[in-house]
Amino acid sequence: MVHETAYYDLLGVSPKSSADELKKAYRKLALKFHPDKNPDEGEKFKLISQAYEVLSDPKKRDLYDQGGEQAIKEGGMGGGAPMDIFNMFFGGGGRMQRERRGKNVVHQLSVSLEEMYNGTTRKLALQKNVICEKCDGYGGKKGTLEKCSTCKGRGVQIKVQQIGPGMIQQVQSMCGDCLGQGESFSSNDRCKNCNGHKVERKKKIIEVHIDKGMKDGQKITFNGEGDQEPGLEPGDVYIVLDQKEHSVFQRQDDNLIMKMSIKLVEALCGFKKTVQTLDNRTIVITSQPGEVIKPDDVKCVQNEGMPIYRDPYDRGQLIIQFEVEFPEKDWLPEHLMYQLERLLPPREDVTITDEMEEVDLCEVDVRKQQKNSNREAYEEDEEGSRGGVQCQTQ
Ligand SMILES: [Zn+2]
Ligand SMILES: [Zn+2]
Repeated sequence: MVHETAYYDLLGVSPKSSADELKKAYRKLALKFHPDKNPDEGEKFKLISQAYEVLSDPKKRDLYDQGGEQAIKEGGMGGGAPMDIFNMFFGGGGRMQRERRGKNVVHQLSVSLEEMYNGTTRKLALQKNVICEKCDGYGGKKGTLEKCSTCKGRGVQIKVQQIGPGMIQQVQSMCGDCLGQGESFSSNDRCKNCNGHKVERKKKIIEVHIDKGMKDGQKITFNGEGDQEPGLEPGDVYIVLDQKEHSVFQRQDDNLIMKMSIKLVEALCGFKKTVQTLDNRTIVITSQPGEVIKPDDVKCVQNEGMPIYRDPYDRGQLIIQFEVEFPEKDWLPEHLMYQLERLLPPREDVTITDEMEEVDLCEVDVRKQQKNSNREAYEEDEEGSRGGVQCQTQ
């Protein structure tokens, strides 16, 4: 799907090369053509650096792969959030181009993580202006265009307004009858299909191919599918993917992240757990007995993340963040505690002396604590500040 490879050619790498390969290639060439070493090759150095600047940024690289150098120029080298991509399309674009071409149109397409994992084709119905078939975009019967009688061919109308005693103002506005064209068709000659507007609104179905591994914010270009207008090359339609949140997996580049809750017994004595993948396989995750998993431990499964875009047989990692569920209060009768303790790693004993002071350890009531700190602001003068933590009497 790579259309333009000039930047890759400049660096002497394949369009499939990894970030590391790109970096290496650039470093080698930059050393060779650096103006310090090779003053005659300054232009070449600039080109190589420009190519690398785009290809080293995954977002810009995607943009380049899909739309070539043009897309990068239009994009004004922006990047980041999907919002930026939108601004790029609406804001960017050279003036030369804007005169010759119609506006580009951006649509957002909401896709599920499953669709990005498995790839799919989505049909999208667009409403767009197309050149009227009946009059070929002429607006009426050929050769019957007449000078607009309302504005006498000037395209503008001048109205005289009285704005005060003895004061008048001339206001110029676009002629509403010929829409500023200065010419119009008489009602008999006007095209009945488009009512003289030269274009008609039509529904167009486009097929959006979502390739495996495509990302949130990725842009798919449909060249020349924008609104048609006589005498103008139509603009492009951009479909920007918007990934829906997933109930289990979070995506981070090509990795998938999930939380897994395990019981204390599983954390200490091992477990087997199943995970439903995005292509509906069930994978089994094993922690061997003796392999202790602590709260917030992170483990990963190689090659069970998202497919790599354009290299879908390769996948990122599945990263699992563990939560350990501890048993509830009083889960074990007191007389059995001793047996449990015998099995656990020994505790460190503390010697209590007379100088020490024994205090109660109690639950923290978060709600009460907040209320208290609010009240404190008023009472501070009378009582002085108190500790922030309020204990609950049990
Ligand atoms: Zn007119
Ligand atoms: Zn027509």
